[in-house]
Amino acid sequence: LLTADGGLGVTIFEEITTMAVKAGAINLGQGFPDEDGPGAIAAAARQAIAAGTNQYAPGKGMPVLREAVAAHQQRFYGLAPDPDTEVIITTGATEALAATLLALTGPGDEVLTFEPFYDSYGAMIGLSGATHTTSPLRAPDFQPDLEHLEQAFTDRTRVVLVNNPHNPMGTVFNREALAKVVELAERYNAVIVMDEVYEHLTFGVPHIPVATLPGAAERTVTISSAGKTFSFTGWKIGWLHGPADLVAAIRTVKQFLSYSSGSPFQPAIAAALALDDSFYQGVAAGLQRKRDVLSEGLRRAGLEVFTPDGTYFINVDAAPLGVTDAPALARQLPELVGVAAIPVSVFCHADGAERTRSLLRFAFCKKIEVLEEAAARLATLQ
Ligand code: PMP
Ligand code: GLN
Repeated sequence: LLTADGGLGVTIFEEITTMAVKAGAINLGQGFPDEDGPGAIAAAARQAIAAGTNQYAPGKGMPVLREAVAAHQQRFYGLAPDPDTEVIITTGATEALAATLLALTGPGDEVLTFEPFYDSYGAMIGLSGATHTTSPLRAPDFQPDLEHLEQAFTDRTRVVLVNNPHNPMGTVFNREALAKVVELAERYNAVIVMDEVYEHLTFGVPHIPVATLPGAAERTVTISSAGKTFSFTGWKIGWLHGPADLVAAIRTVKQFLSYSSGSPFQPAIAAALALDDSFYQGVAAGLQRKRDVLSEGLRRAGLEVFTPDGTYFINVDAAPLGVTDAPALARQLPELVGVAAIPVSVFCHADGAERTRSLLRFAFCKKIEVLEEAAARLATLQ
């Protein structure tokens, strides 16, 4: 069985996507856009294939992409990782997370995350042999509870793994919360691992990379991915940067996971990272409109909507419709109304699952007309 704490089986995304396909439902479960990223970037990948960029890339990634990642961090955040020693390219953020946790943690260590947490965190912490501890994000704003967070750190906390902007809750953490993470990581000598794959998908609130906070860079590994920003989730190009000693340890593990990552996509994503500001602004603005359309539709369908400040995801409480078991509802929804969603409790341990048992997550990275149709179908639930 796959549970959030590292038993292995079929992921919730595969389970719900399979049900959605079978029922011919609108899939607002798994988070992937229904329109591809920029045509010029897809053309750059085709050109790379035509030009013979088809054999193994260097293990740590092609220089052109490592340099583009470093330039992106400089341009948006004023960070200056050394592309030779402080950046590696990975097979998606998923591999970056896996290599980082396997490199830095093991039996006897604790890895602290917020709860709910993205599904691969539980599985990878389990595979590393470490113990997974959590601190809750609670309704209605799903910001960290700083007192609880302080108590959740222990002398065994080796890594604090934070996803900001946050999947599944859609929270963009405020500066105070992030500063507290840094303060506690310093006090307990923990490494901060930041999963910032939704860094550009925020709606009117700033994304603050933890590595920019005082005292943070020397203990922070920052992970991101091309999937969300550029709408090429299937290319599986990710990256990480951090202090050279940590990056060297992570690279050692990465060699034995995938060795290297998709060659023709690397120069294409290097070009994508260099797109001008209007591209990045357009991505966020387009998604914000989609968020608003789906939020409104879900509200009309009688659900309590928690409007997110970032990511692809809106969470709702289905309790106003009398729902007490969202996991059961999520497994009926594709057949019942032709829409698929993910129950939030699958991103939790037992306590958190209890707290979130009537919550559902809907992905809004879909065409406006698709979102409108999904909302109309959900309205029939009332
Ligand atoms: N972290 C989070 C929070 C995610 O939502 C996802 C996937 N959408 C990933 C990591 C994995 O990213 P990738 O597809 O680049 O492996
Ligand atoms: N990150 C995507 C989501 O949260 C799914 C990616 C996957 O299927 N592993 O929906």
